[in-house]
Amino acid sequence: MSYDSNNIFAKILRDEAPAFKVYETDQALAFMDVMPQVPGHTLVIPKDSAEGLLDVDPIILGGTICAVQTVAEAVKQAFEAPGIMIAQLNGPAAGQTVFHMHFHIMPRFEGLEFKLHARDMEDFAVLEAHAGRIRACLTHA
Ligand code: AMP
Repeated sequence: MSYDSNNIFAKILRDEAPAFKVYETDQALAFMDVMPQVPGHTLVIPKDSAEGLLDVDPIILGGTICAVQTVAEAVKQAFEAPGIMIAQLNGPAAGQTVFHMHFHIMPRFEGLEFKLHARDMEDFAVLEAHAGRIRACLTHA
C-alpha cells in the first residue's frame, strides 16, 4: 500500500483539517485523539509521508520519539497519571486505522480500563480543555 496524502493526519499537518494541537517541532506534531480511549489520549505524528514505523525516515523518527517523551511527561503531569502507555500500530492486521505513522500516548490508572479503539467521538469542549491542561504543563516544563 502506498502513502495516501489525503489521509486525515496529512490534512491536519497541512492545516486543511482542524486539530486540538498541544505541541509542535520541525519534525513532529502532537494533538488530542478525537475518539479518546482514556481522558488525555494524545497522538504524536512525524512530519513525514510515512504510513508506519517501517517506512518513516529514521532521522524524523528520532525527532518524533523525542516529542513523544516531552508530551508524555506533560500528559502525565496534566492528568496526574501514575502510568503512561505508548502504543503504535502498523497495518490493518495490527488495528491501524489512519495510515500516517503515529504514536498514542495514554494516561493509565490502576483499575481504570480504556475504551474501545477509535469508537466514540469526544465533546470538542472537553478535548480543548484537556489540550489546555497539557499545553500548560509543556509551557512550565
Ligand atoms: P490507529 O488505529 O492506531 O491508526 O489510530 C488512529 C487514531 O486516530 C484513533 O485513535 C482515532 O480515534 C484517531 N483519529 C481519527 N481521526 C482523528 C482526527 N481527525 N483527529 C484526531 N484523532 C483522530
